[in-house]
Amino acid sequence: MKIELIGFDADDTLWHTEIHYTQAQDDFKRLLSPWGTTESIDQAVNACVIENLERYGYGIKALILSLVEAAIQISDSEIDADRIAQVLAIGKHMLAAEVILRPHVVEALQDLTPAYRTMIITKGDLLDQSTKVKRSGIAHFFSMVEIVNDKTPETYAAILDKYHIAPENFLMVGNTIRSDIHPVLALGGTAVHIPAASTWEHEMIPGFDTAQDGFFHLEHMGQLPDLIRRISNAH
Ligand SMILES: [Mg+2]
Repeated sequence: MKIELIGFDADDTLWHTEIHYTQAQDDFKRLLSPWGTTESIDQAVNACVIENLERYGYGIKALILSLVEAAIQISDSEIDADRIAQVLAIGKHMLAAEVILRPHVVEALQDLTPAYRTMIITKGDLLDQSTKVKRSGIAHFFSMVEIVNDKTPETYAAILDKYHIAPENFLMVGNTIRSDIHPVLALGGTAVHIPAASTWEHEMIPGFDTAQDGFFHLEHMGQLPDLIRRISNAH
């Protein structure tokens, strides 16, 4: 098979992200502890985030708006301005956090980029994600960066169309089945799943068929170059 373009998801594929979300939620739970248990706060936050996804999209700024809303709900409007300021500070802390690459990312990119065109395809906030790409130290490995609101088959189809790539010549690498794998397979592309230590429940697809054509699973990014060479030589 001829692979003309390799797409890489960014969050929890190229660099760690979920750890920052977990840390933020732990800080938030501590802040709201006078009004709720860990479980009840978790539930309220998750409900708020899901409810707001269509309006705010993904990313840190969206999370912070949902945390402020959840704080008002959980505290039954008792929360004071000082604590709201602390919620905002949690967000600023996340936005400034160091970009920590996942294992083997640099070696895999060094190995692959002389032979393949590579693209970052990430969802989330435009300013935050483009800043992260710049701060990551690996921006030079990618010829293209696409920051999208959501990752549906239509999103990928539009990107492939823009760069004149047929889906069967496209391979996507990512940590979430819902965003990185399922839509690409639906178009007839190839998708490589490299799971992260933890993934947001919303990104899972129960009953996903791992035996389907075009689906590959790896333990870590260090195994990617060999897999791609194997796929490229197969036909
Ligand atoms: Mg991801």
